[in-house]
Parts: sequence; C-alpha cells; structure tokens
Amino acid sequence: MNEFELIQTYFQRDALDPSVILDNGDDAAVFSPRLDCETVVSVDSVIAGRHVPDLCPPDGFAARLIGRGLSDLAAMGATPRYVLLSLSLPTLEVGWVEHFAQRFHQLCVRFGVDLIGGDTTKGPLSAHITVIGDVPTGMAVGRQGLKPGDDLWLFGPDLGGARAYLDVLQNTQADHALWAERYWRPEPQFDFGIALRDVASAMIDISDGLCQDLMHLVERAKKPASIKLQSKMIPLCADLVDRLGTQTALEYALTGGDDYCLLASIPSTARVPEGGHRIGLVVQPENESILLDGQPLPASWQLGWDHSR
Ligand code: ADP
Ligand code: MG
Repeated sequence: MNEFELIQTYFQRDALDPSVILDNGDDAAVFSPRLDCETVVSVDSVIAGRHVPDLCPPDGFAARLIGRGLSDLAAMGATPRYVLLSLSLPTLEVGWVEHFAQRFHQLCVRFGVDLIGGDTTKGPLSAHITVIGDVPTGMAVGRQGLKPGDDLWLFGPDLGGARAYLDVLQNTQADHALWAERYWRPEPQFDFGIALRDVASAMIDISDGLCQDLMHLVERAKKPASIKLQSKMIPLCADLVDRLGTQTALEYALTGGDDYCLLASIPSTARVPEGGHRIGLVVQPENESILLDGQPLPASWQLGWDHSR
C-alpha cells in the first residue's frame, strides 16, 4: 500500500459535524465557527522513546496522543470540535496503522471531534495532534487569575498512577491494571472544564506534575501568592501507598505528571461543581511558594517533568 492509499484507507473519514464544510481529503479543511464563540487551539507531540516506549502498541499510542492533546482544551473550559493529525511512521506497516487508526477514530467519536486533516510521512515513530475547540465569547479560563483567598481544587482522576506505571515499564514494579489505565488512557476532563468556566479564577491540566503545574499558576498570577497544600486531601491512585510507602506515593502524586486532571483556583465564595477535591489554600505570599502540611517541599519535588533534563 502506498502513502496515498494508506491515507485514504485509514485516515479519511466523512466529518460528522455539520459545521465542517470541506473535510479531510482536500488541500485544507474548511469549517464555520459557531456564533458567539471563540476558537481555542493547541498542538501537542507524542514521540516514541520520549512520551511513550520505543516499541509502542498502536492503541496505546492513539489513546495517549488524543487524550493528552484534548486535555489542553479541557483546561481552557473549551468544548472539543476538530483535530488534525500529523503522523510519522517508520514503515507503512498496515497492521500497526490499522489498529492505530481504529482506536483513533473510536476516540474521536467518543470525545465528539472530527478528524479534519493531517499529514503522513515516513520517519521515526511520532505524532503531532492539533486540537481545535470553542468557548462562549470571553469564557476561556486562563492560567493567570489565581489570588490569595482562593481555594485550590482538583477535578478528575487521582494522582500518581501514570508515574507509577513507568516503574512497571522499567520492570521495577509488578503490573497494575489501574496504573496502566492511567498511563495509556488519559481522560480529558471536558465536563469539569466546562462546569468550571464561570467558577475558576485560573485553571491548568496536570501534565508535568502537580507541583510544577501549580507553579505555573503561581508565576502567572497577577497578585503574588503562596500555596498551602494538605497531603491528606490529595487523592492518590490505588495501591501507591501499599506498594511504595507514603513518602514515594506522595512524591509520585505531586511530581509525577501525566495525570490529566484539572487544577483550579476557585474563590471561596463560589459554588463549586460536585466531585472535586479541595487540596489547599491560596494565601498571601510567604517565603516559600508551596508549603505541604506547613513545611517546604523537598527541593527536587518542584522540578517535575522537564524535557531539557
Ligand atoms: P497535500 O499534499 O495537499 O498536503 P496530502 O496528500 O498530504 O495533501 O493529504 C491528502 C489529504 O489527506 C489531506 O486532506 C490531508 O489533510 C489528509 N491527511 C493526510 N494524512 C492524514 C492523517 N494522518 N490524518 C488525517 N488526515 C490526513
Ligand atoms: Mg495540497
């Protein structure tokens, strides 16, 4: 099968949403934006050997790619609409591509997005996904509004499971079904993101570890602030404490990353959607930016995941 047959067979699907005027298969896609909405757009990469194992199962590659990508829309309070997929494949091996595409399309339907275009080349296994969504005008939730007096909330899955699964991949821990699920199937939290539009003063999705992403909110805030976290309020993935001990469990939860839950600062007077965890307070600035149970964090915890290291 050559490149064009491969694209036609596996990636060109008719768009389901009537807003798509010219879909996948032309030189570019055309869609008409919704009235009274603003467009929200982001791009994300998944590189084999970096964000997934070198030898990566096709369904896991697809699920991590689309889940991580769409999580950025959830973090803005946006509704997901369209995706574009740029794919680099070592071989045009039909079996792998077929399974990848099957899972990718399945998740497009589940998350309510149309694949409206992309690019396919030969090269090291990697992909870039462009995600497009929308929010009612003026309602996107940015990172910049955190302020003293807010509470700090988490919405979505518990923390640390995806980090613990890296130990499974490195054969230092026995397999664990829920950790595998957290790693391979990130779940963008659209419902919470939308519910938090008129509630959160600032919001971010946890991709690089709670502490590091929290620091982004602190650094972007217009008013200086410190954070007081309470360890017993932080939702830990199952069996982390049993298998790793309390200290490592907390370290994985606070620094591990790949959790894809939403972290929001919310004024204490606001009506908070059901289902979140209140993990701490935003206070007037102190010596430390983040205090855990009143103590400074171990220095290494604040680093989280950084590709330059
Ligand atoms: P061009 O050379 O004009 O850029 P291509 O031959 O690369 O077009 O692609 C043909 C059509 O197939 C385009 O509409 C493009 O968006 C789509 N396409 C190519 N690769 C993918 C992919 N991996 N996923 C989705 N659509 C794709
Ligand atoms: Mg063209």
